[in-house]
Amino acid sequence: MTDLKLEQHVDLLFDKQVEFLSQLVAEKSTRGNEAAAQEIMKNEMASDSARVDELKMDVDKIKHLPGFSPVHFDYNNMINVIGNYGNANGTGRSLILNGHIDVVPEGPLSGWKSHPYKPEVRNNKLYGRGSNDMKAGLTAKVFALKAIREAGFVPNAPVYLQSVVEEECTGNGALACVAAGYKADAALIGEPFDDALVTAQVGVIWFQIKLSGTPVHAERATEGVNAIEAMLPVIAAFKEMEENWNQEKTNYPDFAQHHHPINLNIAEFHGGDWTSSVPAWAVLNLRIAIYPGDSLSERSRQIEKTLQNLIMNNELVKKAKPELVYHGFYAEGYTLPKNTDAESELAIAHEGIFNSSLIRSAITAATDSRFFGIYQETPALVYGPAGERIHAFNEYVCLDSLKNITKVYARFIQNWCGLTEL
Ligand SMILES: [Zn+2]
Repeated sequence: MTDLKLEQHVDLLFDKQVEFLSQLVAEKSTRGNEAAAQEIMKNEMASDSARVDELKMDVDKIKHLPGFSPVHFDYNNMINVIGNYGNANGTGRSLILNGHIDVVPEGPLSGWKSHPYKPEVRNNKLYGRGSNDMKAGLTAKVFALKAIREAGFVPNAPVYLQSVVEEECTGNGALACVAAGYKADAALIGEPFDDALVTAQVGVIWFQIKLSGTPVHAERATEGVNAIEAMLPVIAAFKEMEENWNQEKTNYPDFAQHHHPINLNIAEFHGGDWTSSVPAWAVLNLRIAIYPGDSLSERSRQIEKTLQNLIMNNELVKKAKPELVYHGFYAEGYTLPKNTDAESELAIAHEGIFNSSLIRSAITAATDSRFFGIYQETPALVYGPAGERIHAFNEYVCLDSLKNITKVYARFIQNWCGLTEL
């Protein structure tokens, strides 16, 4: 079959693909609320004759595995959906196509030009929460496989299309797929990094500091312990740790030229009960990156030491009895091994569609690639469409890019797995 034929089918199906993307974006699939969007994914896979597995999240099945992140959240009602495509007995190379269905909260609606869950196309960009991160990438996988089918073919190897939960907080959704035994010769994740291939990415640790104050009436505030004021030196100490970690970048070739690879996010703050009472409590959630190759236990030891030093040197913090909790991401970074066949095939497919060479980049965010790359020793390619403002107001994906990425996926599947007639 000519490449052209597959690409024509992507073109012919593209209006449907945008419609499908709009349906997915319209479902607010924040953590714990993914079921309706997963139902849409499941039905679409089934309509293409894929056998669909529903994998219920179960902490007991994954908590002993490397890559597990701690959970303080109820996994009731959370499922991964996996479409089994391709010829199970085929002789080609097998493939995992992975993407996450969960999205992060939209923030105040006043910041959005159009409603985050009423997707709108303006200037050939589709706006809405999750449009870019990463429901567009999911549609590219579904429609690349659909185009192959419309052309009268099927991949000549097993292809597992995984729509997973929990990417934005732990990665435990992808880990559950690993635990269930899905494995392939390569993995491709459609995270939106501007038509470039991610060759290195940081890991991420989430941690939480809880402080206990001594409440008194504000009239005698000097007699109490103000849990919110005690958080100020805590923030300063971790900002200093962040800068120290950034100084280490020269030890990590992929990030040595990056202006600021390690970002500490002072992310969520709660505390106090009443404006005329000295606050009895405060909780701060933080996110920090680590370099690929770093040991999680060593980096968490440094976090703990930073807090212990502060307790020794700051009376107010000491009185506020800090507690440290790991409440999400406990994720290693990942570097794609050099010169894999998977990367070469993707580069060829990309160049054929974009007429330009594939750009490689190191990113300062984590993706689910570590589960395949580190824990299954499967080369994990992170490559998806262009857009802007992920985790921000007015997120969008560029539809021209999405169409091209879908064509690249179709061509990659053709070359990686081989095709046989339906
Ligand atoms: Zn993402």
